[in-house]
Amino acid sequence: MFDKHREVVNSIEGLSDEEREFLYSALNIHGHMCGGMPMGYVAGIAALKALGAKRERNMDKMVILYIGNGHLAGCFADGIQFATGCTFGKGVMKKEPKGKWTFLLVDKKMEKAVKVTLKNEILKKAFSAPFITDYRKKGVNPTDIPPEIAEPGFKRPFSLKLEDIVEIEGPFDFKMDKKKPCFNVVECSVCGHLVAENYAKMEDGKPVCVDCTNYGF
Ligand SMILES: [Zn+2]
Ligand SMILES: [Zn+2]
Repeated sequence: MFDKHREVVNSIEGLSDEEREFLYSALNIHGHMCGGMPMGYVAGIAALKALGAKRERNMDKMVILYIGNGHLAGCFADGIQFATGCTFGKGVMKKEPKGKWTFLLVDKKMEKAVKVTLKNEILKKAFSAPFITDYRKKGVNPTDIPPEIAEPGFKRPFSLKLEDIVEIEGPFDFKMDKKKPCFNVVECSVCGHLVAENYAKMEDGKPVCVDCTNYGF
């Protein structure tokens, strides 16, 4: 699998060494070849360039996704996550579901953001491609779709002009609430599990976790 991924990624032209390496990692983590992840990857790179920013390694940038749930947009979101470095785990990717292939990339320090939307034409083409109509709609898993269908779909976004893939608005001013992270853990007085202090509740003067509280959060 890794050799195959390397071969496909190496055959794509026009990527910098870093973009190629992250794309290889992205494909390994995503797990299958599809059209959505690379479209998100390209859109993520476009967002970084428009914002004049580098891939996020800490928590200074944030992606707000307007895709929803249950409508084949998760692959696109993974691509954005891998390209921008704004990951779900770091708490710098969140969803405000609207069922749209749109996202904001926010630089929290600079208080600037760009808004990126997938172009109608490319989205319509993706939904009418055999990958969807002949396989996904019929319940076939992406890993079971023949390579002659999946590979060209994976490589296609990199052969297109950026302006044919995404529409970019901004950069514009954008402020987010700045909250300090919690560095303390406390022991739940009922179950004994350690819990982040900002998720513990005091009951009768003792810390209690979400699972053990009598009052709800
Ligand atoms: Zn996918
Ligand atoms: Zn507890």
